[in-house]
Amino acid sequence: MRTTSRYRAAARTIAVIGVLSLIAACSDNGGGGAGGAANYPDQNITFVVPFSAGGPTDTVTRMIAEPMAKKLGAQIVVQNVEGAGGTVGAGEVARAEPDGYTVLMHHIGMSTAPALYANLGYKPLEDFEMVGLVTEVPMTIVARKDFPPTTLQELVAYVKANAGTVTLANAGIGAASHLCGLLFQSAAGVKLQEVPYQGTGPALTELVGGQVDFMCDQTTNTTGQISAGAVKAYAVTTPERVKSLPNLPTTTEAGMPQLQVSVWHGLYVPAGTPQDVVQKLTDALKAALADQGVIDQMAKLGTAPVPAEDATPQAHRAHLEKQLGIWAKIIADAGVKAA
Ligand code: ASP
Repeated sequence: MRTTSRYRAAARTIAVIGVLSLIAACSDNGGGGAGGAANYPDQNITFVVPFSAGGPTDTVTRMIAEPMAKKLGAQIVVQNVEGAGGTVGAGEVARAEPDGYTVLMHHIGMSTAPALYANLGYKPLEDFEMVGLVTEVPMTIVARKDFPPTTLQELVAYVKANAGTVTLANAGIGAASHLCGLLFQSAAGVKLQEVPYQGTGPALTELVGGQVDFMCDQTTNTTGQISAGAVKAYAVTTPERVKSLPNLPTTTEAGMPQLQVSVWHGLYVPAGTPQDVVQKLTDALKAALADQGVIDQMAKLGTAPVPAEDATPQAHRAHLEKQLGIWAKIIADAGVKAA
C-alpha cells in the first residue's frame, strides 16, 4: 500500500456495509488488489468519507453503499477520515493504492480546496479517477430553536446588531457550510465569529443543543431536525423550494438572492486505477442510483440521484473542471485563504 496512515489513526469511525453471507467470501481489507477487473472485487472496499459520521456526506455515502455492495458482491467499509474541510481524507485517497479498494466520497469541497489551501498535497484532476456524480443537495440556513430571529431578514438585522457574539458553525475551511457562511456574510455585509467542526454532523448536534447559534447545512441532515422543530429554519439556498420542506422559502423569496449554493457529491479513486475497475464501480453507482429505496430516501431528504448520464467518469470530470474554475474566481474575489 502507498498509504498506511488510515489504518493507524485512532479517532475514526468505521462501519461495514454489505450482506452477511459475503463475509466468508471476502478476505481481509489490508492487502493490495489483484490489479485488474477480472477478480475485482475479491476483498472489502473502503469508502472514505472526509467528514464526521452523521453528517450529509456520510449520510449520502451510507445510502448508496448497500446497493453498491450488493451489485459489486463485496463488503463496503465506510471510514470517516475527517479534518481540514475534507482535505485530510481526500489526500489519503489520492495517495492510496490505485486498485479500486479505496474510494472517496467527496462533495463541492473538491473544487474549492485548491483555491483555499496553499499546500493541499493533491491535485483534483490529476490525482484521481472520477467514478461518477452522485447527487446535488440544497442547503438550508438553520439556527438553534431559541435563537431570536424568525425570518431571514430578521436574522440579517440580528447578526449585524450582535456581530461580536453571534457564532456561525461550519465543517472547516472549504466545506460547503463554510462557503455558504461566507456567501451569507458577504450578502449581509457582516463578519461573524466562525466555529469549525470536523463535519456538520457534530455541528448540527451542538446547534440542537444550543452551543452554537446558526449554520448552513444540507437538507440531507437538516430536514428531520426542521420537521421535528429541533432547529429554526430560515431559507433553502436553491432557486426552487424543496418538496420535503414545502413551507421553507427560498433565499430569493426571503430577500437574499445572492445566496445560491447546492452541494454536489461524487465518487473518486486514485489516479492509475485500472479503467475496468473504475467501470465496475461506475456500474455499481448507477445501479445504486436507480434503486427505488435510494430514490425514496433521497426524496424524503430533499434531493435526488443525478441523471444516469451524469453518473459517469466523463460527466464527473467535466463538472469538476467547470466547478474548479467557478470557485477559484469566487474565492479569489473574496480574498479567503485557509490559515
Ligand atoms: N455538510 C458538510 C459541509 O459543510 C460536510 C459534512 O459533514 O458532510 O461541507
